[in-house]
Amino acid sequence: MELALLEKYSKAGPRYTSYPTAPYFTGQFGERQWLDELRQGREAARDLSLYVHIPFCDTLCYYCGCNMVATRNYDKARDYLTALFQEIDRVAELTSARRVVRQLHWGGGTPTYLHPEDIRRLFAQLAGRFSIGADAEISCEIDPRELTRAHVQALRDCGFNRVSLGVQDLNDQVQRAVNRIQSESLIREVFGWLRDAGFDSINIDLMVGLPHQTAASYKETLDKIVALNPDRLAIFNYAHVPWMKKHQTLIVEADLPSLSTRLALQQQIMAALTAAGYVYIGMDHYAKHDDEIVRAQQEKTLYRNFQGYTTHKHCDIYAFGASAISQTDDVYVQNVKKLADYQRLIGEGRLPVERGLRVSREDKLRRDAITRLMCDLEVDKARFGAQWGIDFDTYFSDALEELSAMARDGLVELTADKIIVTAVGRIFLRNIAMPFDAYLKQSSDEQPRFSKTV
Ligand code: SF4
Repeated sequence: MELALLEKYSKAGPRYTSYPTAPYFTGQFGERQWLDELRQGREAARDLSLYVHIPFCDTLCYYCGCNMVATRNYDKARDYLTALFQEIDRVAELTSARRVVRQLHWGGGTPTYLHPEDIRRLFAQLAGRFSIGADAEISCEIDPRELTRAHVQALRDCGFNRVSLGVQDLNDQVQRAVNRIQSESLIREVFGWLRDAGFDSINIDLMVGLPHQTAASYKETLDKIVALNPDRLAIFNYAHVPWMKKHQTLIVEADLPSLSTRLALQQQIMAALTAAGYVYIGMDHYAKHDDEIVRAQQEKTLYRNFQGYTTHKHCDIYAFGASAISQTDDVYVQNVKKLADYQRLIGEGRLPVERGLRVSREDKLRRDAITRLMCDLEVDKARFGAQWGIDFDTYFSDALEELSAMARDGLVELTADKIIVTAVGRIFLRNIAMPFDAYLKQSSDEQPRFSKTV
């Protein structure tokens, strides 16, 4: 049954880390508009979430979908940090110190590409310019391959309390096919360093859909990972988009697992992690029962943004670095992606904005519906309608018609009061959200190409 569903619903669609999604941002929203937004928000009551993008990696993983540069020339990172510090200064000047940072995340690329002394310098720069809350969630993505104990100590000394370890798969053949070689013993060693240093929230990232993955090979990976006892797991579907990411042509398509294998892997993951005591959160994420993200899902306060699932719904995100995306309730804004452009604009005293979008009321309303589905796995139509001043069934009649076909396939349950995602529907969350996306209904030659939903 599920294989037929997978064949039917495996189609291109957004991941909904934002709505409207990033391909619909436009150059009409630029630096001037972002400056206005920052000035207006100067004394806003909303707390802050800061994101810092470090785009460097030592080597290229062929599956990579991030904005990154593979280089062994550390001078590039030094030059980048100089620009990054200036960007932090400029945005901080426009932000009241009364606004408290509740969340700080470093992503990439590989943030731990930075030398330990530069990790300390960058953190000091942020802490000197923004008011970081004493209980802030401070997290960093880690590549175990280049990590040293000195990196771990620098992160800990700065106050990082969460880390996310990129593993993807422990099988040799899979690792060779994607050019990411990292032994199980290395992962265990690094994991031990992190625990020794006092990190009690460690996430491990795995990936499904990589070349040569089989149910048997993945079982070994899962067994070894579960034995480490991470606090959270994020299991991402490999997004094969070689038209956007040219280096993905280095992945041999014939080696990619079939749809039926992908389905078997998904089922295996769900069974293994549930049996090991993890709770499945929204899309791709698992956490222990007592994790705050599980509580947030149960209490319907979970939120989704560019960093994935978060408990920090009421924060404006100010993002720094090439390609980084900032977000307030009213706007999205993305920095230029190329390092040379980023550094040139910063050198000219500018904010390095490439494009963005001012969000309309209609966008917000649809964003709320999509977010509720992706986070709560249900929408209470009456409550939603009262909140937005609409009659849900009338306003979303098109979407409900599309969903009724999904209801016949068992993906959702449609009652008079609610839309409820079923257990089967959980791996089709992106499909279930798509009927609420007005931008997808634009004429097809204007449409960007997305990765497959499942
Ligand atoms: S380490 Fe991460 S960002 Fe760098 S190439 Fe690999 S997947 Fe991409």
